[in-house]
This record gives sequence, C-alpha cells and structure tokens, in this order.
Amino acid sequence: MATIIIDGQSFELPEGAKFNAIQAAKHFGIDIPYYCWHPALSVVANCRMCEIEVGTKDPATGEIKMLPRLVPGCQTPARDGTVLVTESAKVLEHRKNIMELLLINHPLDCPVCDQAGECGLQDYSYEHGRAAHRFVEERNVKPKKEVSDLIVLNQDRCIMCTRCVRFTREIPGTAELHVMRRGDHGEIAIFPDQPVDNPLAGNVVDLCPVGALLDKDFLHNQRVWFLSKHDGVCTGCSTGCNISVEENAGKVWRHKPRHNPYVNDYWICDEGRYGYKAANSPTLLGGNYVLEGKDHHGVPTDRFVKRLNETLTTRILDKQSVLGILSPYLSVEEAFAAAQWLASLTNRVELALGPVPVRGEDLTFAPDKTKGRSGDTSFIVPRPFTISAEKAPNRAGVEMMLDHFGKGAVPFEKALESVASHPIVIVFGGSPDESWIEADQVAALRKAEVLVLFDTTINPLADVADFVAGIASFAEKSGTYVNRDRRLQRFEAALPPREGVWPLLDLIAIVSGDGKAPIRSQEILKAAARVVPGLAKVEDGLVPELGLNLDSKDQPIPDAGFQDDWTLANVSTV
Ligand code: SF4
Repeated sequence: MATIIIDGQSFELPEGAKFNAIQAAKHFGIDIPYYCWHPALSVVANCRMCEIEVGTKDPATGEIKMLPRLVPGCQTPARDGTVLVTESAKVLEHRKNIMELLLINHPLDCPVCDQAGECGLQDYSYEHGRAAHRFVEERNVKPKKEVSDLIVLNQDRCIMCTRCVRFTREIPGTAELHVMRRGDHGEIAIFPDQPVDNPLAGNVVDLCPVGALLDKDFLHNQRVWFLSKHDGVCTGCSTGCNISVEENAGKVWRHKPRHNPYVNDYWICDEGRYGYKAANSPTLLGGNYVLEGKDHHGVPTDRFVKRLNETLTTRILDKQSVLGILSPYLSVEEAFAAAQWLASLTNRVELALGPVPVRGEDLTFAPDKTKGRSGDTSFIVPRPFTISAEKAPNRAGVEMMLDHFGKGAVPFEKALESVASHPIVIVFGGSPDESWIEADQVAALRKAEVLVLFDTTINPLADVADFVAGIASFAEKSGTYVNRDRRLQRFEAALPPREGVWPLLDLIAIVSGDGKAPIRSQEILKAAARVVPGLAKVEDGLVPELGLNLDSKDQPIPDAGFQDDWTLANVSTV
C-alpha cells in the first residue's frame, strides 16, 4: 500500500488512485488552493497558487529529503513516500504574495460582480490574501469584450489562468479562445468573427474561477446566495447529464453541471443549460379542463376526477377497450404508476410508447488524451461527452414498464393505427416542448371517442382532448430516469407544483381512488423493483449518488474528480 505524508501525518493512498498533490490532499480533507488546475484539463501550473513544499521519504532509512524550493501541487504526483508540507510559513507567505500579484489589476467590484458568492478570488482573498493593498501605481484597466452572443469577458477581472482556453482546445476541440500578447499585456481573445459558440460553450463560464467570463443570460438576474440548488437530471436528451437546478422565488434561474464521471464528467451542453427556461414557461398548463361543446372549461380536481371516472367506468362496463400512451418524458415511477392504473381499469388495454423525438445524430466530443501532457505529470483522464440525438430522458425506463405491463413497447406510429379499435385513448405526456406532438398525430388520436390527456404544456393535443389534466413539470417532480447507457439516476424537485396542478403520481393515486397507493417516488421505485426484472438491482428504492448501472458493475474511476467549491458558505467559515 502506497503511503503519503501530508503535514507530518501518514495517509494510505487508495489502490490504483492516480492523484496529484491537490487531489491527494483533498482526498484526506486538506485543502491546497488552486486556480488554473482543473481535474479534466491539462496541467499548466501558471497561477502558482498551489505551490507547496515537496520531498520524498527513503523507504529503507526513513530519511526525508525536501526539494529546496516550492513546487506546484498540480504537477506533483502523489506516490509512495511523497512528502507534502502545505501550511509552513514559507508556503503561507508565498500564497499571500501570489494573491497580491493576482489582485494588482483586479477591480474591487465584488458588490456588482455576478461571480460574488461563488468566486475563487473572493474566497482565497479572505483566506490567504493581505488585508492591505500596497500597489500605488495606475492599474492596468482593460475593456470588456463580447466573446459570443451569450458570453461576455470582463478582462480586468481575468487572472490569465487559461482554463477557458484549454477547455475549448481539449474538450470540444474548437479552440476559439487563445492568449494574445504576453505578461501584463496578455489578453484572452477570439479570432475575428469566430465567437465561442460551440455546443459546449457555456462551460467556460463555469470554469472561470473569478467572474471574468459571464453568462449574459444570467447576468444581474440573481445574487447567487439567494439561489437554492437541487440535484437534477437534464431532460434535454437521453445522455441524462447531472445538473444543479437553481431556483429562487418560484422560478428556476439557471442549470449548472454536476460532476458525474460516468455520464457527463464536469460538463453540460448549452441546450441543456438553457433548457431551464421551460420550467418558467407561460405555456405550462395551469389546472384541469373538460371539453364541453367546443370549449374547455376549468374544473377543480375533485369534479374533474369524478367526471373522468364516471366516463371511464360507463364505457369500460360497456366492454370498450383502452389505448394507453406513455411518453419517454415520464419518470420510471410515473410510467410504473400510470401503467399499473391502466392495467387495473380493464384487461382490454394496450400500452404504447409516445413519440420519441430524434434530431440529427449523436454528437460526441472525444478529447485527445495526449494534448497538453508533459511526461507523466498530467493527471487528466478526459472522458468523451455525447449530446444524444434522442431528445428525451427516459425511453429506456418507460420501455421497461411497457415490457412488464404490456406486450413490449408498441411504437407510437403503430399505436396510432390502432386508435380505431380503442374507443378510449389515455395519453401521458410531460414534454417541456409544446410541439412534441405533430398535427397528423393529433388528428389520429382525436378519432378516439374519449381522449384523456395528462400533460405539462398547452399543446395541440390539449386543444382537442376531452379531459386535460395539468401535471407537474420536470422541475416540479422527483423520481428517476434511465439514460442511454441504462444508468438509473435520481433527480429531485426544484419547485413545488404550481397552484391547481398536481404531480402525476398524486393525480394517479386520486384518480385510481386508492387511498393507500404510495405517492412518494422512492416507495414507488421500491414497489417497481420487486416486480420489474430490469430494476432488480435497486435496493429499498435507493439510488446511489452517481446512479446505478442496471446492467453491469461500474468500472472504478482512476482519478479523484471533484467540483470547484468556491461558494459563499466557504467564505463565511473563514
Ligand atoms: S477569463 Fe477566466 S478562465 Fe479565462 S484565463 Fe481569465 S480568469 Fe482564467
């Protein structure tokens, strides 16, 4: 077992771990400050913030030999016998000097800076900076630059860490950003008419540690300390990127990536990033409606449920059959509860998968692992990132329920052909996109004698359905999705359901009249795992933080990834 000594204490490195000094120290609860280093980017060691004292311990004699000067922790491999000193007077004085250097031209504009509250410079100035500013010369003030329609560069805040430059080169491979000039004249720049507009562009804003690169969509909209963060899974495509859904005052304000090495690493695409807007859309359905004549009339939930049940009971007693359509936007739990309810109505029920939107082809960014490496001192394990052509989060999970309750996933087109033989059609939608269903598909479904819709948006099918129930949107519900790699992932509700709207799980429990039906998604997943073979690995309705591979065991991750955690909460503890 490899042993590392940090600040005089011995620690055993985990088997097979590929750590540098920053990662090893972090693993054992010791923080080494850094700016330019990022676990998924090449190592350049240009900010010098992570410099520490480094040495080696001779395994035979036990003698420790220290290097005569400070060494960047990001470039120091953590090996058997490595000795790190992270808190000596020499290291602390060095950090003070680096902070003073980085802040020479940096404006003191924290009160109006969007990064305030999640700023690496703000955090480390409290922790490692000098109280007094000794620089009396004129500051080097550089103007703002637009680097794309969505991203602005505040040059005077930039510390030239080059995280943004390395990202565009190493992850999407588009290299729109570069460093222009040198030393004090150095600037981050784009080439004329070549903005940072690759599909992953927004990640440069997340990577910038100091608020130099900012997202114009979020700019001056919210102070970050007012935002509550909720663990979510993006519904934009079947990749199922892990996201933080950040809300305040009943509105979602932004999506940020959450690290998951098995799915999205540290990134999300711009489509998913700005997909948060659907949670605040004015086209969300706001209640329950019944078609009377040519018009829909809003009715309270109890009257809606009574009328729906009367209609269904009369027709089912008359031996009419039911076609149930489950959209790939439903969670595993919603699909289970919906299919279970439909199966309980009659044995003359056919289940089908709703339309699965596909746009273009999968777009995979496969980073060049050799780029930026120097010897064995680059500790990056870049993983490919795929934006899926399939624009729904849970086809695999819904198909699993269709296999269990029906005769497999009848494709939507085939289901449309069978509407004539099913007088009752019940559709469970849930797409954030009101154009999820096309006009000819609506016309085919409308041939049913009774058309019932549970959905989130005002859309062409809602315009013609006999019964329309508004249900909680993707941001208002909890549950699990199964992504393209058959990884089951849990997401939590960011917002409470809007007034007059129920989460689908509650509404099914009310409509089915089963007062004892579980409505907590964890309980439903537990029940589903008992009977659906594909979910057999789920224990007690619990899903691990990084998700559960339903088919095989996860491969161990060789690097210890962690997210930058420059937050106001850290500052307040200093
Ligand atoms: S803009 Fe931000 S990420 Fe880019 S070099 Fe400057 S400080 Fe670093």
